[in-house]
Amino acid sequence: AEEVGGGDKEVVREYFTNDGFQRWKKIYGDTDEVNKVQLDIRIGHAKTVENVMKMLTDEGPLRGVSVCDAGCGTGCLSIPLAKEGAIVSASDISPSMVSEAEKQAREELAGIDDLQMPKFEVSDLESLTGKYDTVVCLDVMIHYPQSKADAMIAHLASLAENRLILSFAPKTLYYDLLKRIGELFPGPSKATRAYLHAEADIERALQKVGWKIRKRGLTTTQFYFSRIVEAVPS
Ligand code: SAM
Repeated sequence: AEEVGGGDKEVVREYFTNDGFQRWKKIYGDTDEVNKVQLDIRIGHAKTVENVMKMLTDEGPLRGVSVCDAGCGTGCLSIPLAKEGAIVSASDISPSMVSEAEKQAREELAGIDDLQMPKFEVSDLESLTGKYDTVVCLDVMIHYPQSKADAMIAHLASLAENRLILSFAPKTLYYDLLKRIGELFPGPSKATRAYLHAEADIERALQKVGWKIRKRGLTTTQFYFSRIVEAVPS
């Protein structure tokens, strides 16, 4: 039932514009109105962002490097990227997320010399165009069934000149995650459905379009799992 008329995407957009927006804004924020599970996810996600920043800066300074942050959420990655001097294009399917990211960027980046404000745009991944040195897509694939993930990966790779960083919830931890998923994604809505991905499937999708994995990382906390891969043209 998931793919009738591409309905899944509409449901995801709706979720992240309303209830999901409120929920994830809290998780990605820094106020103390979060429960234990949400706090654990906040910490896990922050580690992912940290790992990705390290992966990126290990290859050299980011000053002047163009980065597309696809599915940027509230800007957790876009803002540190801009602080490092990257030229950031940030986009998200949810207008609420994009305006929140814009607001936070204005607050956190104000008065810092020598950086460019990220360029924010409401767009789904599939509609993004242009060329970027680096494309990053964090914790978005959980909304994609594998049948749609291949095309998504191919499209993101087509936008990237040198590097593509993806994170996803690994299927190896499926049973672990199942036990906890009720807490993570409560409610009857379809948008609360989480798709796990086998690393081999992601690797195959990258290979199909001529990319190979150069680095791998994994972030886990009690309620949060995220496999990170950095791919480069092969
Ligand atoms: N990447 C951000 C981060 O790590 O802080 C946000 C991660 S959040 C779990 C998932 C985000 O993906 C949401 O902001 C949602 O609106 C966005 N999203 C989901 N499907 C999308 C799509 N097809 N195109 C663009 N954004 C999408």
